[in-house]
Amino acid sequence: SPAPLTLLGTGAMGTALARAWLAAGHEVTVWNRTPARAEVLAAEGATVARTAAEAVAANRLVVACLLDDASVDAAFEGADLTGRDLVNLTTGTPAEGRARAEWAAARGARFLDGGIMAVPPMIGAPESGAYVFYSGSPELFAEHRETLAIPAGTRYVGADAGLAALHDVALLSAMTGMLAGIAHAFALIRPEDIAPKDFAPLLAEWLTAMMPAVHQSAERLESGDYTSNVVSNLAMQVAGNTTLLRTAEEQRVSPELLTPYMELMARRLAQGHGDEDGTGIIELLGLRPGVS
Ligand code: NDP
Repeated sequence: SPAPLTLLGTGAMGTALARAWLAAGHEVTVWNRTPARAEVLAAEGATVARTAAEAVAANRLVVACLLDDASVDAAFEGADLTGRDLVNLTTGTPAEGRARAEWAAARGARFLDGGIMAVPPMIGAPESGAYVFYSGSPELFAEHRETLAIPAGTRYVGADAGLAALHDVALLSAMTGMLAGIAHAFALIRPEDIAPKDFAPLLAEWLTAMMPAVHQSAERLESGDYTSNVVSNLAMQVAGNTTLLRTAEEQRVSPELLTPYMELMARRLAQGHGDEDGTGIIELLGLRPGVS
């Protein structure tokens, strides 16, 4: 039979998680700082606890989906975590994930950190592609895997509790750069020159066609060879950047989303790497002690 669980935090994401578990027949005890946001779930079968401590006491499996790391401290203040299996689905940094694992261990709990790769409407809909990165206790993951798989797919990425956040944030960071490029392109076309609706399919097709670059970068990072079979080398790309910048000027569009990346390309070129593809820029970005 479905395992009972506790959920702290019934915001937009927590509510979606609770509904998925309730729909699958799990007994769910919920707590939220603002009680009204938890009480709507009572009508759907959830048990609403008066305090977080009471909610934590109700079940072995305790899931938290709160705003940020500080709100996790605030919510668990005074709760007894001894013998609990804590799964933290609050987005955070890798260091916060590791610190939270130590915090849980010091309180006698097993710990799993999670990074949710979905928006609330995708939760509980297997066909949506929603999933969660998990890292931390492999025993906890093995024991609760079926329950955790109800709201979204599960991807366990290692015993180091920081790894879920690192995967999560790396994907979000790549998305940020991609969205910056999309914003610049739409600014550049100006609706009076090219209709956004005509341009959109071309842009989507173009970005999709660029995706093999992800695998090519990985292969070059693994091999350390940035110069074999380069089809458009850094020297050529840097020369081409002036056309991108002059076009931005002609269209009266700020180049500020492009210039930081172009500056890195120029710096790598100036260091004598004009025959590389773009992979060497990854080395420039890594701020390791003793490396400039
Ligand atoms: P909401 O803003 O809807 O909910 C935030 C929750 O945190 C509420 O339950 C809120 O309680 C609670 N909270 C905030 N501060 C405190 C505090 N000091 N003490 C106790 N509880 C507190 O956010 P979401 O539900 O959307 O997000 C929750 C987590 O899920 C975040 O870490 C977010 O990054 C992550 N996530 C969200 C996605 C989304 O698209 N929404 C996508 C992927 C991840 P109260 O109701 O009292 O304010």
